[in-house]
Amino acid sequence: MKVTDHIALAKDTLISFEILPPLKGKSIQSIYDHLDPLMEFKPSWINVTYHRSETMFKKKGDGTFEKVEVRKRPGTVGIVAAIMNHYQVDAVPHFICGGFNMRETEDALIDLNFLGVDNVLALRGDAAKNETFFEPEPGGHRYAIDLLKQIMRLNDGLYLDDDIRDGGKTKFCAGVAGYPEKHFEAPNLEIDLQHLKDKVDAGAGYIMTQMFFDNQKFYNFVEACRNAGINVPIIPGLKPITNKKQLSILPRIFHVDIPTELSNEIMKCKTDADCELVGTEWLIQQSKELKQFGVPVLHYYTLGKPKVIWNAVKELI
Ligand code: FAD
Repeated sequence: MKVTDHIALAKDTLISFEILPPLKGKSIQSIYDHLDPLMEFKPSWINVTYHRSETMFKKKGDGTFEKVEVRKRPGTVGIVAAIMNHYQVDAVPHFICGGFNMRETEDALIDLNFLGVDNVLALRGDAAKNETFFEPEPGGHRYAIDLLKQIMRLNDGLYLDDDIRDGGKTKFCAGVAGYPEKHFEAPNLEIDLQHLKDKVDAGAGYIMTQMFFDNQKFYNFVEACRNAGINVPIIPGLKPITNKKQLSILPRIFHVDIPTELSNEIMKCKTDADCELVGTEWLIQQSKELKQFGVPVLHYYTLGKPKVIWNAVKELI
């Protein structure tokens, strides 16, 4: 079922989770072990992130280095199909522009359609590790909106090969990313919001946000979206802080602020277990307030911490 249909039919705030594909060499069982306890909360869907390959330098026997492409977390389509089959729950693959040309994207979308997957989160992806700025693949997309438009064209039965007539129409519900604290490359929030509105006008069914730790930033973002004429559901993405290093890592990678009250409490912690307790309490408080605000869904980035997420979500039901 489409994410937008889940939301339209909901009688209460929905719950959804996000996972990373397993590291290469690990089995699908590692995903089930991660998800099993969380399924008790009857999530409406599970998101699966996408990770492009990295260029690395591998030392050879003669002491010289060889440039190699390493894909640490392969796949998304297979994991999504496995999750849907194993748990009878919807799964949402993240699709990115980076590293794909349009033909590869189309082939992957056709596979998803054959597997009965109704949802995709359409993203640009970040610059590859060896690049300063995002560079599209030759024959690929520069912005998420271009990927989204390709998905919408397929929904209209329009394939890249123009000799395909009366092509089967897919029925993907596509979500897009939004940034309560602005995407780091956008010159200001207004321009970022205009690009977000363009994605919604191009057919995005909902917005899923970057993580944030100050709910006021989310409330302001929702208000700014509504004022800009963006009327689709906005789903908050939530993540707990679980160690001190994240106080500098999260702002650096995700360009988000950590409120002083939270950073002060984390700084006082002596162990990671103490940090987890503080992070869990903060997450519970954030979730309760967002629920009261009337968000359609609470979406949790589980990222290797299913127990912390379990402890938080059990306080909500
Ligand atoms: P876009 O919407 O293309 O925007 C990128 C930037 O370009 C923004 O600054 C925007 O304002 C600007 N822009 C957009 N359109 C135009 C235009 N026409 N002209 C000029 N500027 C424009 N990354 C992964 O690699 N894998 C994942 O699984 C993944 N999951 C994510 C899930 C969520 C909920 C979020 C919020 C992010 C996720 N990301 C993921 C990270 C995402 O790929 C990066 O944040 C990326 O830098 C931007 O992606 P986007 O889809 O927002 O891009």
